[in-house]
Amino acid sequence: MRFVDEANISVKAGHGGPGSVHFRRETMEPRGGPDGGDGGRGGNIYLYVDTNLATLMDFRFKKKYVAESGDPGSGKKRNGKDGVDTILKVPVGTIVRDSQTEEILFELTEATGENILLCRGGRGGKGNAHFATSTHQTPRFAQPGEEGEEKEITLELKLLADVGLVGFPNVGKSSFIASVSAARPKIADYAFTTLVPNLGVVRLDDRRTFVIADVPGLIEGAHKGVGLGTRFLKHLERTKIYLHIIDAISGRDPSSDYEIIRNELKQHNPELLAKKEIIVINKIDSLQEDEEINKFCTQLEKEKKVFRKISVATRQGLDELLQLISDHLYTDKYENYTQKQRPLA
Ligand code: GDP
Ligand code: MG
Repeated sequence: MRFVDEANISVKAGHGGPGSVHFRRETMEPRGGPDGGDGGRGGNIYLYVDTNLATLMDFRFKKKYVAESGDPGSGKKRNGKDGVDTILKVPVGTIVRDSQTEEILFELTEATGENILLCRGGRGGKGNAHFATSTHQTPRFAQPGEEGEEKEITLELKLLADVGLVGFPNVGKSSFIASVSAARPKIADYAFTTLVPNLGVVRLDDRRTFVIADVPGLIEGAHKGVGLGTRFLKHLERTKIYLHIIDAISGRDPSSDYEIIRNELKQHNPELLAKKEIIVINKIDSLQEDEEINKFCTQLEKEKKVFRKISVATRQGLDELLQLISDHLYTDKYENYTQKQRPLA
């Protein structure tokens, strides 16, 4: 299963600063020679692979990037300052294409810690100091700066879901994704067009985004292929953590719901149970005082399991839950900081 995050952006390096037309003015030298300095170079545009990024989300918010122009030159052969470079941070695995030709410009499969030149800034123009000759001692011209390089590019990233959602039907998985995600990536190469997994990108701030995926159809017998659960269970193997969502008002016994789903996971692949798990008790907005839920929570506490009570409907507890997920994910990322490449789906 392959999810693709995509963004089209336009990038333009800085314009070179113009050279200066200037003549020396000194008290002892009323008609001095030309001393106009050169313009500064326009800022370059670089790509930088940042292991803390997981999606191309930020490029949906800002689509145009222009680096700073070089400053003009001035008298006394002073050169203009170079324009400040612009650095675009992208996640590991980003493919960069020319939007028009679709030619691949870069495949950024590794975090090398280096800036990769995407668009070169325009050269600064030469000042008139360069143009004095024996026959032409007062050049009243200088070069203009050059244009910065300009490109339309497409960024493409194969996404892997960081967080999987499991639970009975109707516990609120789809509602959860809809209420916490800021974008829906395109889903590619997926055989079941009628049964696409629900997927969303959560954006906490501009440095922390993660991908969350529904694992629907997980009912008793899923591991045997009932309800196409196996397809989705396979997907869960690649997520870093999963949320086990429990319906607080289903009328069923929450601990038996919990065990049934856990058993499905185990039958499919026992290693799934070793993954980080957060148990999420949903729909507490409609929960009356309930002995079963209280018993369930006491049991979870005893087993030192991580659980939260939330309501997707009223957003109660949602922000705190996202923070918790993010802390789990990013602690992991820092631990694996040297990890060269995120595995691609
Ligand atoms: P899924 O099958 O797990 O994807 O569940 P859905 O997201 O489709 O939700 C099933 C039903 O539960 C829908 O009618 C939702 O409106 C409802 N629901 C979801 N979250 C809440 C909640 O926090 N409180 C209440 N009262 N209902 C909810
Ligand atoms: Mg659903």
